[in-house]
Amino acid sequence: MMTELEKEFLICGYHQLRPIKVTNKLLYARDILDSIPINDEYLQVNVIPEKEVIASAKNFFSAHLNLHPILMADTQSYLEVVSKTNAMMAKEWIALYKQIGIPISPFNLPIQYTEKHAFAGYLKTFGDYVDSDYVLKYSPALFLNIFLSKTINEDTPISYVHEIGHTQLMSVKGSVISFYDCEIIPIFLELVAAMDLDDDNYLLHINIVHRLETLIAIIESLNDPLFEEKLKAENDETENIPTYWSYVISIFKAFHLFSLYHDGNIETKKEIMAYIQKIFDGEIKVEDMLKKYSISYDNSMSKKSIMKVFTL
Ligand SMILES: [Zn+2]
Repeated sequence: MMTELEKEFLICGYHQLRPIKVTNKLLYARDILDSIPINDEYLQVNVIPEKEVIASAKNFFSAHLNLHPILMADTQSYLEVVSKTNAMMAKEWIALYKQIGIPISPFNLPIQYTEKHAFAGYLKTFGDYVDSDYVLKYSPALFLNIFLSKTINEDTPISYVHEIGHTQLMSVKGSVISFYDCEIIPIFLELVAAMDLDDDNYLLHINIVHRLETLIAIIESLNDPLFEEKLKAENDETENIPTYWSYVISIFKAFHLFSLYHDGNIETKKEIMAYIQKIFDGEIKVEDMLKKYSISYDNSMSKKSIMKVFTL
């Protein structure tokens, strides 16, 4: 059986992972992050009506980006097609698989509100029952639903924007070369949405603090020599070392990109969004944009960069 992660690699077209280690530079970055004072009293969010979640996200995207349709499938037709996997040639099967995908606006992808994922969302794609390298490599991503936290508050539209960002990337195979970079655009959009949705920068502050705390916790975990064993014992497929690294690397790079956006004039802001549009349209890759702005893992975790972006 392939793991969920292996399937995601094939569906999204990520390149092979290169192993990463906790370096002294990263531990130094953690110490700097740790030294940033946080005012916890400031972290309350208000409850909002459910319909505002979609409305706010729609407003956000219509101001910045054009979204392309994504393919949604219903469980019944999906299981029917999967039951034919062994009876058909892979090529024929893929054609059938593509047929069950219905193009929809990402805003029409059903949202399921759940107890889990208190501060975030989660995107469910089909692939669970498919176990063939070939099929996954050539099949499009079929989306099932978006999970969001049951407690709907001012921050929910921001988690929703994040997940919508993922739909746009995952439906264009190869739009992100490295799995470690897969969270950059969703996290960047989440920060811009937080900035747009609240003139007082209150939501932005909350999201920065949330990512800052997550980042410190993940670095701690990755630095624990027993962490890999602990994860194995949990036996939860969504918890794995590469995913943790994708958060570390993507948070650093996304914040770096966000600081250019935040401090940039209107032209710079438009230019960054135009690059993201090109990524969504399949014209360039996330890594092309990082290169254009000289954003690397290394320079994004320098003291100068950290003090600039995590204290906004
Ligand atoms: Zn994400």
